[in-house]
Amino acid sequence: MKSKTIILTSGKCAWGECFGCGWGRIIGPKPSIRKLKEKIDNIFRDIEKENVKEKIEEIKLFTSGSFLDDKQFPKVIRQYFVKKCISNNIKKLIIESRPEFINDENLSDFKGLDLSVAIGLEIANNEILKLYKKGFTVEDFIKASEIIRKNGFKVRTYLMVGLPFVKDLKEEVKKSVEFAKKYSDTIVLINTFPHSNAPIFDLFISGKWKPLDEKQFNEIVKDYPECEKEFNNFSFIPKFHKEKMIKIIGAGKEQLIHPYYEVWQDYFQRFYKPPKDKTILLFIPCSYKKPYYLSKLHNAIKSSIKSLKNYEKIHLVVISSPGVIPYEFVNYYPFNSYDWPEWEETKEIKELYIKVTTERILKFLKAHIENYEKIICYFKYDSETYQAIKNVESKLNIKIENCLKKETYEKIKNEKNPLSLKIATNDLKEYLEKL
Ligand code: SF4
Repeated sequence: MKSKTIILTSGKCAWGECFGCGWGRIIGPKPSIRKLKEKIDNIFRDIEKENVKEKIEEIKLFTSGSFLDDKQFPKVIRQYFVKKCISNNIKKLIIESRPEFINDENLSDFKGLDLSVAIGLEIANNEILKLYKKGFTVEDFIKASEIIRKNGFKVRTYLMVGLPFVKDLKEEVKKSVEFAKKYSDTIVLINTFPHSNAPIFDLFISGKWKPLDEKQFNEIVKDYPECEKEFNNFSFIPKFHKEKMIKIIGAGKEQLIHPYYEVWQDYFQRFYKPPKDKTILLFIPCSYKKPYYLSKLHNAIKSSIKSLKNYEKIHLVVISSPGVIPYEFVNYYPFNSYDWPEWEETKEIKELYIKVTTERILKFLKAHIENYEKIICYFKYDSETYQAIKNVESKLNIKIENCLKKETYEKIKNEKNPLSLKIATNDLKEYLEKL
């Protein structure tokens, strides 16, 4: 059966307080009935076009709130949507609602459809639901599910895996699945990610809670073949909201292991997937100017390599005080908004930089080494980052050659911005040409 996912927004979730939900906090415009009908007409126009290829028989409707809330979606709109479903031969419809809007009257709008009402129970534990600010209890869920079933419809239950406040994740998921089975027709196990405009994001960037990576998630959900699973329906990356975007300035421990950098490094190590076609990993230094690509150094590097036959295979990855930064992310905060004034570096901070950077490169490579056929670098021989790279070489027992020749560096090391000089970038080009 072909299924189509539709997002239909209107106003705001009536509750909007759940600890981990960013969608429910979005105050979207409240369209008029006419506008909402137009949106629905457009949705079904698309469905008609798609039906030519293969008939769509199921709609999963996401509404960031409750389709059964009259304030968010007036009754006349629900009825209009159902009428459209029936006339387009849609057999199954999945909608979302909080328990307080589930009643006989609202459900009567869906006669003639195989309806499932999805309820975000998240976890079958009232204590955690309270901490999570869910705004309803397990008992409210039971009552709502009984009303749905009494009306001949189905209950779809969302359970979150990896929630904060939970001591034993595995055990709590087990209890919740066992409980939900009694009241649900389908259960979806969803991984918890930090939405940037929800309180969970603060917990995440403070280092007090981390999302589960795919391996950890699968380890917990593998025992429930009867449940649907959603590891990453959110395309998670650590996106910071404007008010959290402070400029990180200084060359001290506080800046080096800033929690913002730590969450990004964790992301690059556990969630990020390097582009499959980029099989030559080239570590390069950062630049004082941000974003890096506006700097003299990065311009020199890029213009020296862009005409190479294997240019598309080269994956530029910057190493700097925030850690290891794949080039696709250089425009993201905080990589576009920090200063590490080298002239403030003390002997102690240089040593700490080498230690922390070694660890970060090591973890990045352990996670992604399989993606690359060749790993090389372009650094000053006497730089702290190069020392970190050398440490990684011996710890992993691999070779990370410096594309800059030692003799070239000896000639230019007292020049300003030596790595941006033609004589140096020629070494880089020459090295890469031979690959
Ligand atoms: S999880 Fe659902 S009920 Fe909670 S705030 Fe988000 S949209 Fe609203």
